Amino acid sequence: MAQVYIAIGSNQADPMAQARQAIQALASLPASRLLAVSSLYGSKPMGPQDQPDYINAVALIETALAPLALLDATQAIELSQGRVRKDERWGPRTLDLDILLYDQAIIESERLTVPHYGLTQREFVVYPLYELSPELRLPNGQAIAVLKQQLPANGLSVLAEV
Ligand code: ATP
Ligand code: MG
Ligand code: MG
Repeated sequence: MAQVYIAIGSNQADPMAQARQAIQALASLPASRLLAVSSLYGSKPMGPQDQPDYINAVALIETALAPLALLDATQAIELSQGRVRKDERWGPRTLDLDILLYDQAIIESERLTVPHYGLTQREFVVYPLYELSPELRLPNGQAIAVLKQQLPANGLSVLAEV
C-alpha cells in the first residue's frame, strides 16, 4: 500500500460541496482507504484573476492502485463532477485533483509528474500538507515545515472543516 497526498481544488458550482463530494469519491476508490483530510481552505486564483476564489484541501489516502491507475481514477472523478477541459491554463473548474506525493516515489512520465511540479510554490497545497503531516519530507529531503515557513499565505484562510 502506498500513502498518497491528493490536492483538491474547485471554484465552480458550489466549490465547498464539490470538495466534499470529491472527498467522498476518494474514500470510495477501489483498493484504497481515506486516512485523513485537511481543513477546507479559501484561496486566491492562480493565473487568470477574473474568476472566483477557490476552495482547496488535501486528502491522504492509502492505496494499492499503481500511480497511473490512480490518475485514471482521479480524472474519472473530475469528469463525474463536471470538469470540462479547456484550452485556458488555470481557468475556472468544478474540480481539480492533483497527485502531490505517492509515497516517496519520483515519477516523470508523459501523463504524470510526481511530486507535483507546483507543490512547493503553492500555499494552498503546502499549508494543508503541513496541517496533515507537519513532519512530512519530500523525496528530495525538503521539509514541509520549512517550505511553509518560506511561503507567504497570500490570503489563504481556513473556511471550514470537512
Ligand atoms: P496544474 O497541473 O498546474 O495544477 P491543472 O491541474 O489545471 O494545472 P490539469 O488540466 O488538471 O492541469 O491536468 C493536465 C495534465 O496534467 C493531466 O492530463 C495529467 O496527465 C497531467 N499531470 C501530470 N502530473 C500530474 C499529477 N501529479 N497529478 C495530476 N495530473 C498530472
Ligand atoms: Mg492543478
Ligand atoms: Mg490537475
